[in-house]
Amino acid sequence: MRLGDQRASDNVEDRRGMGVGGGLGVGGLVIAVIAYFLGFDPSAVMNVAEQVVAPQRETREAPKGAPADEMGQFVAKILGSTEVVWGKIFQQSNGQYRAPTLVLFDGQVRSACGMAQSATGPFYCSRDEKLYIDLSFFRDLQTRFRAPGDFAQAYVIAHEVGHHVQKLTGTLQKLEAERGRVTKADNNLMSVRMELQADCYAGVWGYHAGTMNQLESGDIAEGLNAATAIGDDRLQQQTQGRVVPESFTHGSSEQRVRWFKRGLDSGRAKDCDTFSTASL
Ligand SMILES: [Zn+2]
Repeated sequence: MRLGDQRASDNVEDRRGMGVGGGLGVGGLVIAVIAYFLGFDPSAVMNVAEQVVAPQRETREAPKGAPADEMGQFVAKILGSTEVVWGKIFQQSNGQYRAPTLVLFDGQVRSACGMAQSATGPFYCSRDEKLYIDLSFFRDLQTRFRAPGDFAQAYVIAHEVGHHVQKLTGTLQKLEAERGRVTKADNNLMSVRMELQADCYAGVWGYHAGTMNQLESGDIAEGLNAATAIGDDRLQQQTQGRVVPESFTHGSSEQRVRWFKRGLDSGRAKDCDTFSTASL
């Protein structure tokens, strides 16, 4: 990627090296169990949101603003790029984009949705409108998932930002209301639709990053490769040796690539309607 001219977002909270204080609470244990193995975010953010954990104060204030180190700068610039893109898209429909905060942490973190571990993977908490990322996931992406490249990392951030967009448009709340009233299979399907839409939104950002001249040759391929690497079928094959489509919560590799690509090709958020489409 070419991010030289991109302003680094100040909406970053750097909790790296801070610990959480107070250890892993009961809520944390529950979350550790339900956290989707190797997933992008805990088995749909909604699961985590159900864990009612009284937010406790951090003992120290985390530094706010774009971190100075290379990875911190990269993350802050990608976030800045998503702010520009979604700011414009919301403006076009007379709306206003409220930017989320990105929290960098290592080990474990306390969010308004409960405690989470690095192993959970990056996630979005709709209660505090923050994206949580342990940068070690980017290393995993490269080594364990064999999805190297800066655009693969940017896709991860843009996907979580996609969940924030779902909060702003009300999609997330609608799904949370439906949750609990439907069967597990239906819950899983809803989760897949939500994740594929976040992938598509990540693609929408990618399209506009391209028009801002931030993409280099090979970037798109890195993103598509990452989407392939984290499909449910691929992950299940790797970890369980078999594939159980009914248990998918994020979508197959083919679906994730296709919806990501749909956003990438059109740049229009309205092309990301994974909820009323007949074929996912
Ligand atoms: Zn997600």
